[in-house]
Amino acid sequence: METTDVIVIGAGFAGLVAARELGRSGHKVIVLEARARVGGRTWTEQALGHDLELGGTWVHWVQPHVWAEMTRYGRQTVRSPIAEEAYWLGAGAAPRKGSLADFSALIHDGQQQIVADALSAIPQAIAPTVGRITDLDEQSLQQRIDDLHLDDEARSANESVWVGHVNAPLHEVGLSSALRWASATGGHWPLMHEASATYRVVGGMSAFSAAIAADVVGDIRLNSTVTAIDHSENRATVTLFDGQKLRAQRVIMTLPINAIDTITVTPSLPEVWRRANEERVASQGIKVWIKVRGRLPRFFAYASQHHPISVLKSEFIEDDHSILVGFGPDHTAIDVTSIEQVQAAVGVWRDDLEVIGVAAHDWMKDPLSKNTWMTHRPGQLTRDLSRLQLADGVLHFAGCDTADLWGGFIDGAVESGLREARLVSNALTR
Ligand SMILES: Cc1cc2nc3c(=O)[nH]c(=O)nc-3n(C[C@H](O)[C@H](O)[C@H](O)COP(=O)(O)OP(=O)(O)OC[C@H]3O[C@@H](n4cnc5c(N)ncnc54)[C@H](O)[C@@H]3O)c2cc1C
Repeated sequence: METTDVIVIGAGFAGLVAARELGRSGHKVIVLEARARVGGRTWTEQALGHDLELGGTWVHWVQPHVWAEMTRYGRQTVRSPIAEEAYWLGAGAAPRKGSLADFSALIHDGQQQIVADALSAIPQAIAPTVGRITDLDEQSLQQRIDDLHLDDEARSANESVWVGHVNAPLHEVGLSSALRWASATGGHWPLMHEASATYRVVGGMSAFSAAIAADVVGDIRLNSTVTAIDHSENRATVTLFDGQKLRAQRVIMTLPINAIDTITVTPSLPEVWRRANEERVASQGIKVWIKVRGRLPRFFAYASQHHPISVLKSEFIEDDHSILVGFGPDHTAIDVTSIEQVQAAVGVWRDDLEVIGVAAHDWMKDPLSKNTWMTHRPGQLTRDLSRLQLADGVLHFAGCDTADLWGGFIDGAVESGLREARLVSNALTR
């Protein structure tokens, strides 16, 4: 049987960074990746005549782990367009149009009141379970918004803004997700928005992950789906879909919580992982790229959390077409491959958008992710996070779901890969 020091399962950002660190520390590493590519939930595809990010896209310098990788690999950012026009829904869902400043004024009170709690709830964003969060974690984001008693227009606008962040129906999302992001941005809501959806990586995320992969001193094996792990006190045996077995002193799993049950683990996964997997995290939405006819002024649009596309914004403007990106809370509410359904969804704001193409990947239906960018259900953060970070003997866990700072983000994936590589390296050199 082939043997190695460490097997890393998954070649997303967490797995690649962990493998790079371990290889550089002199450990023999094999990365097993089920897909035919590296990058995991980041994936740049040529579609609709553009290089489009079907998964993770935006990064920011307030995200220290991914920013260090940006510096290391000489990546630059490009700003997504600043909107000239804003659209939203007023009373009775009547379409409203204004400027960016008009919309910011509409949502300001709602945003401010929610993020105002952040610094007492989570005084240090790197310790997200310490602080008043322990009292607040059972609250859903919806309950908190309900408590604000906003008028209908402000309430609907605020709700759809949050859908853009948390990609789930708001009654299913813990208030903790909002508080973590706000804490990480010093309680400053415009910075929180900027951090999560403003700066794209020049050259695309696939080139970024490929640069890390090229830096791995070790073996990255694609098309290598792991089906089982048997682990004992001092080693683990990993079985691939074709029956091939490999042995290692340590294994790092980087699968998302929702997808971790696709591997049979003996003895079974820790109770915290099994429970979280059964429960599922909150995130369950869509991201869809939409090509519309004509050169449109740069705009963004917010509907409500009850619309299949709650958020829409311009990303590329060409002479004869524009490329928009949309987000919605529920992947079962719309078929993002259907031009007709997307056309109907964008019609809520304006009737001059003629959809001529769509591009998306349903990450919720993808058995290798079963999730988008992770947001917690009420209670999950303080109940589970620290235990999700614990190794079970020789079996370690990384992945954005286990991060302290930007959980659910690329930054969190990098953080987790660094963390577990250090722990594994320490254990191997003890
Ligand atoms: C639509 C969308 C938009 C997003 N937008 C942003 C954004 O703008 N900014 C941001 O920071 N983050 C964003 N994210 C989140 C970001 O993409 C993730 O946080 C990050 O990519 C997760 O990296 P990871 O390594 O933890 O997990 P993953 O990338 O999911 O890596 C896990 C890897 O394990 C592999 N795997 C699974 N099962 C097996 C198996 N049995 N055997 C072998 N391999 C297996 C998978 O194929 C995958 O490659 C977005 C995500 C999505 C889906």
